[in-house]
Amino acid sequence: MRTIDLVADLQAQSRAWRSAGSTIGFVPTMGALHEGHISVVRAAREANSRVIASVFVNPTQFSEEADLHAYPRDFERDAALLEKAGVDIVFHPAVDEMYPSGLGESVVRPGAVAEGFEGEHRPGHFEGVATVVARLFNAALPDRAYFGRKDAQQLAVISAMVRGLGLPIEIVGCPTVRESDGLAMSSRNARLDADGRHHALALVRALAGAQAAFAAGRDVTGIAASMSRIIDEAPGVVLEYAAVVDPRTFRPPAAAAGDSLAAVAARVGGVRLIDNAELGAADVVRFAAAAPSLIASIPQGVLS
Ligand code: AMP
Repeated sequence: MRTIDLVADLQAQSRAWRSAGSTIGFVPTMGALHEGHISVVRAAREANSRVIASVFVNPTQFSEEADLHAYPRDFERDAALLEKAGVDIVFHPAVDEMYPSGLGESVVRPGAVAEGFEGEHRPGHFEGVATVVARLFNAALPDRAYFGRKDAQQLAVISAMVRGLGLPIEIVGCPTVRESDGLAMSSRNARLDADGRHHALALVRALAGAQAAFAAGRDVTGIAASMSRIIDEAPGVVLEYAAVVDPRTFRPPAAAAGDSLAAVAARVGGVRLIDNAELGAADVVRFAAAAPSLIASIPQGVLS
C-alpha cells in the first residue's frame, strides 16, 4: 500500500490505472477506523481492481471547533488496518492541500435533501461534506465511491450532488455494521461511559420498535411517535429527532413503504448519536431480544 498526500500525485496514479484498464473504487473516511469502515472497504475491494481510501478530518463539516480538535487521530493504526483490508493507496492530504484557496472558497451547496434532520441540527455540516467529497472525487477520479448507510442522509446528499453535477461516478451504499447488542458502530461510541453505553441501546430499541410498528401498519406519524416514546422513556437519553423518511429525499412519505427509513438522533451523556433502519428490512428488530418489553408488541412472523 502506498501513502499519497498530494492531489496531483493521486490524479496521476488514478489516470495511469485507468489507461491500463483498471476500475477504481474509492472510500472516503475521517480515520479512527472500526469494523464499519472496513466493511465499506471490503465492498470496494470486491467490485474493483484498485481501491483508494482517504483519511482526512475535514474541518469544514464540523460546526464546533472543540469537536474538530477532539476528533481522534491515529494515522499509523488506520493505515495498518487499510493495508490489511487490501487498499492500494491511502490518500492522506494536509488541510492546505485540500483547501488551497482557504476554507469557505468554492463550496458545493447541497439542495433540499440537506435541509432537515442532520442539516437542521448541524448547520453547515452538509455543505462541508459535499465540498470535501467533490474535492476528494476530483483527486481520486474513481469509477465507484462507497458510503455507509449508517449516515443515510449523507448518502442521499452525495447521491443528489453526483446526479446534479453529472459526475461520472457510481455511488454505492453499504449496510450498517452493528455491535453484538445492536448499537451501530461509530467512532463516537468510545466517548460513552459505561452507563451511556447501556443507555445508547434506546436508539436500537426505537428502530426495532419502528420496524415492529411497520409490520403492523403504514402510518408514518404513528411509527415516528412510537420511536419518540421509546427514546423519551429511556434514562439519560435526549431525543433530537425520530422520523420516517424517504431514503432519497429525506422527506416523510405519504405512507410508510418497505424502503422508507426510520431515522433517529439523540444525545447520550453529551455524545450525539445517529442511527437509521429500513422499515421493511426487519433486521434491527432482531436485537429486540435485548428489550423484552418490545417482544410483546412485535407481530408474529416479523422475528421468524
Ligand atoms: P467517517 O469516517 O465517520 O466519515 O465514515 C466514513 C464512512 O464509513 C462513511 O461512509 C460512513 O457512513 C461509514 N461508516 C461509519 N460507520 C459505519 C458503520 N457502523 N457501518 C457501515 N458504515 C459505516
